[in-house]
Amino acid sequence: MPTPTLEVLSSPSAASVKTAESAADAVRTGEAGVQASDETVVVDARVGRLTEARRERVRQRALAEIPWWYSPWGHLAGTTGIGVGVLALSAYELHAISGFVWTDLFAVLVACLVANFFEWRVHKGILHKRTWPWEIIYDKHTPMHHMIYVEEDMALRSTAEFRLVLIPAAGVLGIVLAATPFAVGIGKLWSASAGWLFLVATSLFMVSYELLHLSYHAPKTSIVNRLAILRILRAHHAKHHDPRLMQRWNFNVTVPLFDWIMGTIAPRDAPRS
Ligand SMILES: [Zn+2]
Ligand SMILES: [Zn+2]
Repeated sequence: MPTPTLEVLSSPSAASVKTAESAADAVRTGEAGVQASDETVVVDARVGRLTEARRERVRQRALAEIPWWYSPWGHLAGTTGIGVGVLALSAYELHAISGFVWTDLFAVLVACLVANFFEWRVHKGILHKRTWPWEIIYDKHTPMHHMIYVEEDMALRSTAEFRLVLIPAAGVLGIVLAATPFAVGIGKLWSASAGWLFLVATSLFMVSYELLHLSYHAPKTSIVNRLAILRILRAHHAKHHDPRLMQRWNFNVTVPLFDWIMGTIAPRDAPRS
């Protein structure tokens, strides 16, 4: 099935789109207005009425919200630095532990499975449904990230747009801290090495999520997309960026394991209308 162009997405008629855009503009006053406008864009996008002009307006608004002190490379260093920090700490602790057995490595497998499920569940249930108390996460994802980047136009236009793709460093730290009690529990019930391995695997999974997601939004010709495996994973995520598919399909961003287990890998002929 041929991929629809943005012109097709902008159907059904220029007049009705103009009316919808005027309505969206009319409500863009104050907080409530912005909210209503966001929802109008999302609803229209889901039925294939998302024009480039509207996407551009969402992009300009998102870029205007970036504070002056924002550093894209600092952001990337912050999120990956948390993983590297936990790796260094874990390596130090593991080195000091005697009695390491190879079965402790199963903790890495457990961490990857749990993290892959968590990624699938949170993406489907929180990033695509406006749910208390996580409304802000939905607002940054469905009406912003998804409206700016669509399947045929996934690439960042500047490094400032790292802000629109990467998770805040505080969010990554929060996830690592939330995993810590589980690592402590594994350390007590299984072994100290298994606990540290669980924690480090969870942290590195988060780093891989960030780096993979960023690479999918790099220009198609970028060096990171020359690897076949990255092109396959990118295509999986790009399909999720079709607003008509985003609510149902392809929620994994790293490896689509839970998409496969839960039956949410978009079929070739998934309806786009
Ligand atoms: Zn994305
Ligand atoms: Zn999404």
